[in-house]
Amino acid sequence: DGEAELEALQHHDVARLLPVPTEESDKYRRGVVGVVAGSARYPGAAVLAVAGALHGGAGAVRYVGPAAGAVVSRFPETLVSEGSPGKAGRVQAWVAGPGLGDDASRLADVVAADVPVLIDADGLRLADARAVRGRAAPTLLTPHAGEAAALLGTPREYVEAERLAAVRELAARYHATVLLKGSTTLVAGPDGGAVRVNPTGTPWLATAGSGDVLSGLAGSLLAAGLGVLDAGSVAAYLHGLAARRVSGGAPVAAQDVAGALPGAWADVRREA
Ligand code: AMP
Ligand code: MG
Repeated sequence: DGEAELEALQHHDVARLLPVPTEESDKYRRGVVGVVAGSARYPGAAVLAVAGALHGGAGAVRYVGPAAGAVVSRFPETLVSEGSPGKAGRVQAWVAGPGLGDDASRLADVVAADVPVLIDADGLRLADARAVRGRAAPTLLTPHAGEAAALLGTPREYVEAERLAAVRELAARYHATVLLKGSTTLVAGPDGGAVRVNPTGTPWLATAGSGDVLSGLAGSLLAAGLGVLDAGSVAAYLHGLAARRVSGGAPVAAQDVAGALPGAWADVRREA
């Protein structure tokens, strides 16, 4: 009847979905995340997206872009590829957009890839809607209310007042799964159906760079092979738990949220 069904994420569902390596695993099977983020002006966004991906269980993270120096000095685990993302080595999912600035060509290259792609931040502004709709592999868009409003061409107040309608509208319009960030994060698939609600958030997450960490984390779950709705909702769940774990009612920096992801992960497994 077209009525939206809301589905709160449960601890045991998240526990069941966490990609845990087995004896047969190697870094490629665990998943390689490609990160297209950062610019001369915003190198930190690349560092935070890579932090989210590395602490989110990726087998490897491959970075393509101008912030490679900053990324590698902070995370020497990172693989760096020169040139365009389309010519980079093996990647099972891409994260594109945090701090990207105006690099539309790097973004377009990722949108053309035939693996799952997460688009966030500047990437949402740069992405060609028709190219996104035409993708064969799944797409995950992760706007906050202001970015969602820009994509819909509506005032921000509309998105804030009608979050459920807005997230479903965006998903239908872009043929994408959409994770609408905010005090409660909503995740909607492109074909209607239940919209997932994440209950773990904390207002301490409203801090610069925390969305970049979420992008990397969700990308790492996509690369591990989770479905796009699951990857988005599990990422939001772990991200909120990590923030609560590290905050305990006090301010948190985004890099600390990334650092707390393994602890949040362990909590979910233990309490399953
Ligand atoms: P971004 O706006 O891209 O930096 O992302 C901000 C992150 O913080 C997202 O994961 C939001 O869901 C989260 N967030 C922002 N404000 C709140 C809030 N008031 N309560 C809970 N989470 C929030
Ligand atoms: Mg953001």
